[in-house]
Amino acid sequence: MKPLAARTGRISTSQTVAIDAKYKRLKAEGKDVLSLGAGEPDLDTPEHAKQAAIDSIRSGRTKYSQVTGLPELKEAVSRKFARDNGLVYPPSDIIISGGAKHCVFNALLALVEEGDEVLIPTPCWVTYPELVRFLGGTPVLLPTDMATGFKLSAKDLRRAVTPRSKLLILNSPGNPTGAIYTETELRDLATVVAERDLYCLSDEIYEYIVYDGHRHVSIAALGAEIFARTITINGMSKAYAMTGWRIGYTGAPPALSAAIGAIQSHGTHHPANASQYAALAALQADGSFPETMRKHLSECRALALRRLAGISGLQVFEPQGAFYAFFNLEAYLGRTFQGKTMANSMDISEYLLESRLLATVPGSSFGLEGFMRISFANDLKTLDAALDRLEKGFKALLPA
Ligand code: PMP
Ligand code: GLU
Repeated sequence: MKPLAARTGRISTSQTVAIDAKYKRLKAEGKDVLSLGAGEPDLDTPEHAKQAAIDSIRSGRTKYSQVTGLPELKEAVSRKFARDNGLVYPPSDIIISGGAKHCVFNALLALVEEGDEVLIPTPCWVTYPELVRFLGGTPVLLPTDMATGFKLSAKDLRRAVTPRSKLLILNSPGNPTGAIYTETELRDLATVVAERDLYCLSDEIYEYIVYDGHRHVSIAALGAEIFARTITINGMSKAYAMTGWRIGYTGAPPALSAAIGAIQSHGTHHPANASQYAALAALQADGSFPETMRKHLSECRALALRRLAGISGLQVFEPQGAFYAFFNLEAYLGRTFQGKTMANSMDISEYLLESRLLATVPGSSFGLEGFMRISFANDLKTLDAALDRLEKGFKALLPA
C-alpha cells in the first residue's frame, strides 16, 4: 500500500489527551484512579448555558448556520473583547471555532508554511510545537526557567529571531506554569515583534483565572502596530466550565480573519449551533460565573501549594494564573520503586499512575525534563485525596 502522508509522521497524539484517556480507561475498568492530569475545571457548566442549548434544539435551530459563527455570538464576543481586553474586533473579524485548540490550528494553517520558524517559549502547552511540525514549520523552542518566572524576555526573543521567523506564540496566563506576563513585559515583546516583522498568536484561554491581584493584559491592546500583527484566541472551556461544548473564538485583523474563515468553510464549517447558543447565554449572563470559578480555583491552589510544600525535595513554582502547579522533581530522579529506576519525569508519572493510581503529566510533555505538572481544578476533597497519593508516591521512592 502507498504510505500515509509524510506529515502524519510528524505528529503524535497529544500527551495530555493520552494521559487523560489512560485515566478514563482505568476508571472504566473499575479502578479507584484519581486525576491531577488533563486540565479541566471540575465545576459544572452553568445552568443557563445548558438551558439555552436545549431551547435552541427545541426551537429547531438545527440546520447549517453561518460558517464563522452565529452573528449574535460574534457580537457578544466582540463586546467581550472591548469590555475586558480593550480590543476592537468588529464581529466580521471574529471566528467561532470548535474550541481554542481549533482556533490555534486554524491560525497556524493560515500562517505557517514549510521552512517557517515559529518561536515558542517553553515549557509550553503540548499542542503548539506538534502543530507547527505537522504543518512543515520548525518550532524554535525558547527555554525559560523558574529563576526568571518562566517568562521570555524581549532580549532572548530578539536573539532568537532569524530571517525565517514568522510567528511568536504567547500563552499568558500560561500552561503548564501559570506564569503571567506584565504589561511592561508584553510591551517589550511587542516592540520586538513589530521591529522584526513577526506575527503573534496570543492564546488567552486562562484569562479569567488569575490569583493574588495579578492582571491579564492582551498584547494586541498595546498599540496599533501589535494589533495588526496579532491573532487573539480565547474560549469558553476554562472560565465557563464548558470543555465538552467545544467553543473557542479568534479575533484577528481583516486579512487574517478572512483567511481563517475560508479555511474553516472547508475544514469544519461552524461548531454545533446548540453549543454556540450555550456560549451566547454564558457570555450574556452577569459575569459572576468566571468569578465563582476563580474563587473556587483559588482555594484549590492554596490547598495544592500547601500540600506540595509538605513533600520534601520538590521545588514548586507558585502559579499566578491558570490551574496548574509545576514543580521540579529532580531530587527524585535516580530513585527506585520495586527495582525500577526513575530515570526521568515520564518514569515518575507512569509509576504514579500504575502503582498509585494517580494521573499527572511529566514536564517532558511540555518541553522541560525534571519537572511535573498537576492540575488542581478539582473538588477540595478529591484534590486532597489525590495529593495524599502524590505525597505517599514520592515518599515510597527509595534512594538507589
Ligand atoms: N490553549 C491552552 C494553553 C490550553 O491549555 C488548552 C487546553 N484546553 C487549550 C488552548 C484548548 O482549549 P479548548 O480547545 O478546550 O478551548
Ligand atoms: N489543555 C488541557 C491540558 O493541558 C486539556 C488537554 C489538552 O487539550 O491538551 O491538560
